[in-house]
Amino acid sequence: MKALIIVDVQHDFLPGGALAVPKGDEVIAVINELQAHFDYIIATQDWHPADHGSFAANHEGKKPGEIIDLAGTQQILWPVHCVQGSQGADFADTLDKSKWQKVFRKGQDPKIDSYSGFFDNGRGHDTGLGDYLKSIGITDVFITGLAADYCVKFTALDAQSLGFETTLFRDATRAVNLQPDDFEKALADMKAAGINIITKEDYLH
Ligand SMILES: [Zn+2]
Repeated sequence: MKALIIVDVQHDFLPGGALAVPKGDEVIAVINELQAHFDYIIATQDWHPADHGSFAANHEGKKPGEIIDLAGTQQILWPVHCVQGSQGADFADTLDKSKWQKVFRKGQDPKIDSYSGFFDNGRGHDTGLGDYLKSIGITDVFITGLAADYCVKFTALDAQSLGFETTLFRDATRAVNLQPDDFEKALADMKAAGINIITKEDYLH
């Protein structure tokens, strides 16, 4: 049984948002078309308290892009984004939400970031997504959303490590690209882990 996972398609990750992923809005139409072909659809939502440790603004003199030690874990600092209850944390307006079974929120602990929809970056906290998918009989997961080089990549790697047959729709994601080749590197990392990388056209035809 298959499930589509939509990672973090929220205002702050779209053009004009606080942590805009270049061309991030282009994934919405692709994801909406894919949703018609799945019975089980799950979304993840980055959902930070205002005092979250991944925000550069919460560290005196630090700027986005700098790396710090956050409670023992290496942390890239980001602009303030996806604060709980803010408009920036809402899902994209044009994203079809009508068939979603469940939303899994992540990043609530101020002391550790959570790129993956399954676990935080230290693997200390489990969101319950893996057990949920297994409880409804899901064996194959298909990953879409933002951003390819962070939350999408780590969600896909964790899905694969939990034993799900994992596929990324490469045309239903976009990268932050702090370095220009980060998207290609992320694809290579996923491929090396055994994750299938396909396009919407490959799936529909
Ligand atoms: Zn975040």
